[in-house]
Amino acid sequence: MKDLEQKIETLKGYLTGTPKRIAVLAHTNPDGDAIGSSLAWAKVLRFLGHEVTCLVPNKYPGFLAWMPGIENVIVAKEANELAEQVIDDADIIFFLDFNQIDRLENLSRHIKDNTKAVRILIDHHLNPPTEEYSLLFSDPTSCSTSYLVYRITEQLTGLEVFDREAAESLYVGIMTDTGNFSFSFLTPGLFRAVAGLIEKGIDIPAINSKVYNSYSEGRVRLLGYVLLNKMRMIENGRAAYIALKENEMRRFDFQVGDSEGFVNYPLSIASVQMSAMFIETHKFIRISFRSRGDVDVSLFAAKYFNGGGHKNASGGKSYDTIEKTVERFEKAMAEFFRPGPENR
Ligand code: 5GP
Ligand code: MN
Repeated sequence: MKDLEQKIETLKGYLTGTPKRIAVLAHTNPDGDAIGSSLAWAKVLRFLGHEVTCLVPNKYPGFLAWMPGIENVIVAKEANELAEQVIDDADIIFFLDFNQIDRLENLSRHIKDNTKAVRILIDHHLNPPTEEYSLLFSDPTSCSTSYLVYRITEQLTGLEVFDREAAESLYVGIMTDTGNFSFSFLTPGLFRAVAGLIEKGIDIPAINSKVYNSYSEGRVRLLGYVLLNKMRMIENGRAAYIALKENEMRRFDFQVGDSEGFVNYPLSIASVQMSAMFIETHKFIRISFRSRGDVDVSLFAAKYFNGGGHKNASGGKSYDTIEKTVERFEKAMAEFFRPGPENR
C-alpha cells in the first residue's frame, strides 16, 4: 500500500485525544476474515482507550462460534435497534473486509444517514469508492484484511497489543482467506507475520481443526449430493456450476454457512477454470464465483450480476428465479469465454 506511514499518522490523529465511540463493521455473511480482522482490530482500539462495538448484518457461520470475543459481536438481524443505536452514536466507523456500503444490506441506510461519524476503510477488495471514506487502508494485493490489520497495528502501536486471542483471530482470517495458504498474495511478509502470530502462542493444528473439522453430518452429506447430482459442466469442461434450491438444502437440515466452500470443489477438476454457485434464499439468489489464473471473475460478477470482489473470488446477487438466473449465467458464460480481449 502506498503512503502507509502517512495514513497511519492521519489515523493517529483520529485516535488520539478523548476516548471515542467506535463501531467496527464487517460484511453480510461474515466469513473468517471479516470476523477475525474485526475482533483483533477491536482489541487494538480498546487498548488505545476507546469504546468499541463490533457489528455484523447477519449471523456468522457456526464454525467461527468458538472465536474468543465473538459473543460480544452484535448481529443486526437479531438485535436491530441496538445495532442502529451503535451506528447513530458512533464518532468513528471502521469498515472491515468490504468496501461497498450497500453490502451491509439492512444496515446500509442507517450508515448513510449517519453523516457525523468519520468513516475509515480497512479492506483488500478491488475498486473502493474513495469518496465514501475519510481515510482508506485499501490494498487489493493483501491476501486478507486480517493481514492488513496486522501491518497497520505493527506501525500504529507495535505488536505488543496482540495477545494470543488476537493472534488467533488474525490467523483465522489469514488461513480462511488464503484457502489454507494456497491462493494468491502469499508474500514473504505474510509468512513473517504468521511467524509473529506463532510467537504469540497460537496452536495452528487446533485452529485448523476447529474451523475445518466442525461440520454437521448434514453438511457433509449435502456436499456429496451436490457433487454427485448438482454439478453441471459447461463450456467444454472449462467451467462448472452448482445451483441449489431451498427445498434441497432443507432436506439436509441446512444451517447458515453450510454451503460455504462448495464453490471451490469444481475447480479441483483439471479442466475447470471457473466455477459458480447459486444458492436460493427467500429474498434473492446468492451467487459465488471462483476462478484460477487469468480468468477474472470480479469483472464477470460486475458485468453480469451487479457484484464484485477479487479477481479469483467474487460474488453477486440475482432477483430472478434460480432457473432464470442460471439461464442468464449460461448465456453470459458463452459470451465471456468467447475469444476476445474485452472479455478477459
Ligand atoms: P463469497 O462467494 O465467499 O460469498 O464471496 C467471494 C468474494 O466476493 C468475497 O470477497 C466477497 O467480498 C465478494 N462478494 C460476494 N458477494 C458480493 C456482492 O454482492 N457484491 C460485491 N461487490 N462483492 C461480493
Ligand atoms: Mn477478506
